[in-house]
Amino acid sequence: MRINLSSHDLKAADHAHHLHPFTDHGTFGIDDRKVISRADGVWLWDTDGNRILDGMAGLWCVNVGHGRSEIVEAVRAQMSELSYYNTFFKTSHLPVIELSKMLAEVTPAHMNMVFYGSSGSDSNDTVLRMVRSYWDIMGKPDKKVIISRKNAYHGSTVAGASLGGMGGMHGQGDLPIPGIHHIEQPYWFGEGMQSGMSEADFGVWAAQELDRAIEELGEDKIAAFIAEPIQGAGGVIVPPDTYWPEVKKILDKRDILFISDEVICGFGRVGEWFGADYYGTTPDFMPIAKGLTSGYLPLGGVVMSDRVAEAFHNSAAGEFYHGYTYSGHPAACAAAIANLEIVKKEKLVERVRDDIGPVLQKFWHALGEHELVGEARMAGLFGALELVPDKSDLAKRFANVGRVGTIARDHSFKNGLVMRAVRDSLIISPPLTLSEEEAGLLAKAARKTLDDTW
Ligand code: PLP
Repeated sequence: MRINLSSHDLKAADHAHHLHPFTDHGTFGIDDRKVISRADGVWLWDTDGNRILDGMAGLWCVNVGHGRSEIVEAVRAQMSELSYYNTFFKTSHLPVIELSKMLAEVTPAHMNMVFYGSSGSDSNDTVLRMVRSYWDIMGKPDKKVIISRKNAYHGSTVAGASLGGMGGMHGQGDLPIPGIHHIEQPYWFGEGMQSGMSEADFGVWAAQELDRAIEELGEDKIAAFIAEPIQGAGGVIVPPDTYWPEVKKILDKRDILFISDEVICGFGRVGEWFGADYYGTTPDFMPIAKGLTSGYLPLGGVVMSDRVAEAFHNSAAGEFYHGYTYSGHPAACAAAIANLEIVKKEKLVERVRDDIGPVLQKFWHALGEHELVGEARMAGLFGALELVPDKSDLAKRFANVGRVGTIARDHSFKNGLVMRAVRDSLIISPPLTLSEEEAGLLAKAARKTLDDTW
C-alpha cells in the first residue's frame, strides 16, 4: 500500500476526503473511526494495533473467512487471462458460464437461470423490472404492485430502498416509488408480545397480513411478494415457526410471484444453502450477493425459476432493456467459483447446521440469562440479543431507543469483537469458518460487553 501515514493522520485524511455510507456525518469525528488494515480467518487488525474478532463477517458477507489464498489466486489467474468482457450483445465468457452452471446445482431444483449485477441492491432493481416484465409477457400488465414488509431491508438504490420498509430511508429522497405496499412484519419480540396473541398465533396473523393486502388491493393488481427469510438489517428477526408455513399456503393459492431475498441468508448462513431451503418455500426469484463471493469482489444476481426463465425465453416482447456493464464480471465470477468450491469442499453449510451452529447457539442462548438480555435468538450463525431495561417486564424498552445498543456495540469493539447495533439489539453474523475456540472467545467478549453496558 503506498499510503504511509500514522494512524491518526490516516483517520484525518479519511475524515477530509471520504464520505461514508450509512453514517451520521454531523457527529462522525476524526477519532471515532477505526481503520482496518489486515484480516485473516475471523480476525481483523486495525491501525491502532488492535486484533478484533469479526463477528459480522465484514457486512454479513465474508462467509469463508478473510485471506483465502484460493480466491486470491483464482482472481489473479482470471485477470491475467481475461480481466473484462461484457455479457451484452450475444457475448459470454468462460467464468460466467461455469458459475451459472454451479449456481444451478446449489439453488433449489426448479431454479436454473441467473441474471447478474454487482450487489444486492442492484439485484433488487433487476427483480422489480423482471417481475413487472414477466406479467407483461404473460398478458397481465395490470399486475404491478409488489408487497413487501415494514422494517425489511432490500438495499439502498431507489428501487431497493422503496422495496425495503425502513421509514428513515423512505424519508430521504421521496420514497417509496409508487406501486410498493408494505405490510406488518413477523417481529414477535418487537411487536407481537404486546398484541395479546401467543407467538404461534401472532406468526399466523402476520402471515395473513399478506392475504388481507391481496384482498384489499386486488389480486389482479399484485405482481409479487418480496421478503427476507429472516430479516437481517431489521434486527435478525427470526419469525415465529408458524409464519412461513402460513405464507406458503397463501402463495400456493394466489396468482402472485414470490421473491425470497437471499442476500444474507443465502450460501449457508442459516445452515442450508438458502433461506428458502430452511423454510421450505418455493421462490420465483432469489436476489443473491454477499456470500456469493464472500465479499472478495462485488457480485450479485437474481436466480429465477424455470417458469420465469421460460416466459422470458418464449417472449415475443423483444429486447429486455436491462443490464449493467459489470453483469457477470469475469474476475468476480472467478472469485465466486473459488468461493463456492471452498463452501462445498469444507462442507460449510453442513458445518453450520450440525457443528459450529449448535455450538454458538448454545453459547448465545446462555447469554440470554444476562440481566440486560430480554431475548437471545439465533438461526444458523445469524443472531441477535435484545437488550431491555427490566427483565421482569419484557414489554418495556429503553427510553432513548438506540442509545444503549450503540454504547454496547462500542464496548464490544473495545472487548475485541465486532457486533452491530440495531435499535437496542446486538447482532452477530460471523464467518462460517468460525472454530469452536473462536466461538468461545466470541461468547466471552459478548458477555463482558453486556457486563460493561449493564
Ligand atoms: N437485500 C438484503 C436482504 C440485504 O441484507 C442487503 C444488504 O445488507 C441488500 C439487499 C443490499 O445489498 P448491497 O448492500 O450489496 O447492495
